[in-house]
Amino acid sequence: MTFLSLKTADLQGKRAFVRVDFNVPMQDGVITDDTRLRAALPTIALLSEKGAKVILAAHFDRPKGKVVPAMSLAPIVPALAALLDRQVAFAADCVGPVAEAAVAQLQAGEVLLLENTRFQPGEEKNDPELAKGFARLADIYVNDAFSAAHRAHASTEGLAHLLPAYPGLSMAHELDYLDKALGNPTHPVMAVVGGAKVSSKIDLLQNLVSKVDILAVGGGMANTFLAARGAHVGKSLCEHDLLDTARAIEAQAASNKCQILLPTDVVVAEAFAAHAPHRTCEIGDVTDQEMILDAGPKSVAALAAALETAKTLVWNGPLGAFELPPFDIGTMEAARTAAALARSGRLVAVAGGGDTVSALNQAKVADDFTFVSTAGGAFLEWMEGKALPGVEALKHPS
Ligand code: ADP
Ligand code: MG
Repeated sequence: MTFLSLKTADLQGKRAFVRVDFNVPMQDGVITDDTRLRAALPTIALLSEKGAKVILAAHFDRPKGKVVPAMSLAPIVPALAALLDRQVAFAADCVGPVAEAAVAQLQAGEVLLLENTRFQPGEEKNDPELAKGFARLADIYVNDAFSAAHRAHASTEGLAHLLPAYPGLSMAHELDYLDKALGNPTHPVMAVVGGAKVSSKIDLLQNLVSKVDILAVGGGMANTFLAARGAHVGKSLCEHDLLDTARAIEAQAASNKCQILLPTDVVVAEAFAAHAPHRTCEIGDVTDQEMILDAGPKSVAALAAALETAKTLVWNGPLGAFELPPFDIGTMEAARTAAALARSGRLVAVAGGGDTVSALNQAKVADDFTFVSTAGGAFLEWMEGKALPGVEALKHPS
């Protein structure tokens, strides 16, 4: 299975239906972070240079199949036009006569944005009729929205089967790095998984222990593993009903020769609050009143030493309550260590997850990582080893 390449395709005069992720944060009609618009620029520029007619389609928010004016994509037009330094036309519907008329107006190289795909009830249902309606607008399909690829919707999946389908440049870039991280990585591979709860990441942990050489578990979820090993975790966030699950994951790791690394010392406090009075102690010394809020210096040093031995790192989830200083220290130190190794070319470091991206930005090291995914749910499902329908549909038998 391979993917078709836009770079080598003849696109002169062809109509390209391009699924992008323009679900940007917006306040009172003003875009507060245009990262997602910028991510689509290389693909739009390439298509335009090649003389394609660029038809952009995206969802915005959750209108649930109804026209909700406050969720229109129209406010995106001026921002996108400014970034592209060219005119962007807008169609007040994403399918049917209005969209067809707007597409008919397009000259080679021009750009059109269609209205919110989720205004159509068929979008989230992956309705074949809606996919056919989209297909009538175009000659080829391009998906540049990895972050929406875990959903089998008409514009992310159904349509891909009806036209020659290509990954966009951002999508191809992301798939390439995800492959380097877990698909076909250079071993030893180390995974760092933190965050609040084991319950939200069971599938992810189970997938990782079958693929990586070292799994460092941190953050709140480490408490469940520590408790499963018999440690006393006091008032810490801990899922006592999942101790057997933690033990099963440890057993799976052992049978796959995956080493599990847990904290040996921790930073504890009596309140879940910034600057709460705190102390550093060994795992065995946590009192009934205390909760574990960060990894201790010995644990962070052990994690750094393990990273030194690894060739590949895949990271999701902070190692402590990093929003509450000083309980960010463990996460910040580990992030800086991984970033330095990546910068020196000794480590392929890939990270993703909403809070993980915030933590890397807080440590000011996101740019030093080899790749940071902002795809959220799609990144997590990929880490769980699940096939993403939007990616599968782009695969080309060859
Ligand atoms: P991501 O969004 O990157 O996937 P998660 O949402 O799984 O990450 O986890 C992030 C959350 O985990 C943060 O809100 C952080 O405060 C919390 N967390 C990490 N360590 C602890 C801990 N020891 N106790 C309580 N919460 C924790
Ligand atoms: Mg989160």
